Amino acid sequence: MNSSKTWKSGERCQRPGLYRCQQCRLEGRETTRAMAASAIFPMCDVCPGGDATWRLIRPDRPRE
Ligand SMILES: [Zn+2]
Repeated sequence: MNSSKTWKSGERCQRPGLYRCQQCRLEGRETTRAMAASAIFPMCDVCPGGDATWRLIRPDRPRE
């Protein structure tokens, strides 16, 4: 499954910001990672194996 706000491990970040691991969220952990534009999404450090799904929770805003 993929939507405009979630990306999986190995995909390229298109929107810089703070992302949260969906699986960790389901299990009550708050695992977040700051991502730069064009960085590759990593595996989750906490979840065992498999690909992580990262959800954008706070986009970076350009400075005014
Ligand atoms: Zn996780």
